[in-house]
Amino acid sequence: MADRLAGVALARYTTLRTGGPARAFAEAATTGDLVAMVAEADRDKEPVLVLGGGSNLLVGDDGFGGLVVRVVTRGVESAPDGDGRVFVTAQAGEDWDALVARCVAEGLSGVECLSGIPGLVGSTPIQNVGAYGQDVSQTVTGVRVYDRRTGEVADLTAAECGFAYRHSAFKQDPDRHVVLAVTYALERSALSGPVAYRELAARLGVEIGERVPLAEAREAVLELRRGKGMVLDPGDPDTRSAGSFFTNPVLGPDEAAALERRAPGHPRWDMPGGSVKVPAAWLIENAGFPKGYEKGRARISTKHTLALTNPTGEASAGELLALAREVRDGVHEKFGVWLVNEPVLVGASL
Ligand SMILES: Cc1cc2nc3c(=O)[nH]c(=O)nc-3n(C[C@H](O)[C@H](O)[C@H](O)COP(=O)(O)OP(=O)(O)OC[C@H]3O[C@@H](n4cnc5c(N)ncnc54)[C@H](O)[C@@H]3O)c2cc1C
Repeated sequence: MADRLAGVALARYTTLRTGGPARAFAEAATTGDLVAMVAEADRDKEPVLVLGGGSNLLVGDDGFGGLVVRVVTRGVESAPDGDGRVFVTAQAGEDWDALVARCVAEGLSGVECLSGIPGLVGSTPIQNVGAYGQDVSQTVTGVRVYDRRTGEVADLTAAECGFAYRHSAFKQDPDRHVVLAVTYALERSALSGPVAYRELAARLGVEIGERVPLAEAREAVLELRRGKGMVLDPGDPDTRSAGSFFTNPVLGPDEAAALERRAPGHPRWDMPGGSVKVPAAWLIENAGFPKGYEKGRARISTKHTLALTNPTGEASAGELLALAREVRDGVHEKFGVWLVNEPVLVGASL
């Protein structure tokens, strides 16, 4: 097993560039090591943080008082089912966007709109990553996990993953499963899935529901994302973020009616059962927080209202949290809606 290092600064391993030291830090290059490290820490009652690309984490300034296991396992296998589908199984430590690029190059359709999302394969089921009309719940058929409660390796079906909007059974019960590998069922096709997102359809010059060559879909998504600072780029300070900091709130009928009274005609997506999903970016801007709004050394992205950034890399977690609280409280005061953070907070709370 890899050596355990003491006092490694976690800011180096998160895209928000915050986070104090880990009491212990180790890299797991094989699934066996990953399972053994977590099992040993659990036996010793030592807290564990499983770390992927650190792109959906806000780690507090005091760091993590336990073992951080960074997942660096590698391997991708493909198995055609003879019926036009290919099951692609990737180890948790594979880079997500490299896997998407490979699928696009190999003529496998189903994840092309998830191009440019940072992080690792093993994290994609955690919050059911999604963008531009796709999310992984549409393609994941199975997740191999180490179940810390039973001490066994198990294969979960998609239904057992409990996928919902930016949510899953893994996020619900965060200390239970370590994701070891994920299987995606993709269609062998030169064409993308039906384009389901208006902005993407407009960029591609097609109607909703049309399909386009895979590489065109990927390029259009990457262009749109770059314009919003949503593709990691060391030269773009707006990308020192954890992506969207708040999820779009989903309001039940009563809450929706209350918001309609405060903000008649506000933008919304209608959901089943009379619920509505409201764009958090609209709420934030209309509560008085424009792009580029600063508090201390933390800033709302100059390109995308939903991303809180650490533009110089010098803001503390405390400064980012202070900005997040100000935005959350301001939206609540103006609209009566509580925004919920999307990144996982470690040693920090809003
Ligand atoms: C610029 C930018 C753009 C983004 N755009 C999007 C977007 O469009 N859509 C979207 O959904 N997200 C987006 N994100 C958020 C983020 O990239 C995704 O959530 C990604 O899946 C996180 O992967 P990661 O490997 O970096 O996870 P980490 O940040 O390392 O971890 C996130 C959580 O998952 C847990 N975890 C990680 N690996 C495992 C594992 N193997 N087993 C168990 N638990 C694990 C961690 O403990 C933590 O709780 C964006 C982030 C940035 C910085």
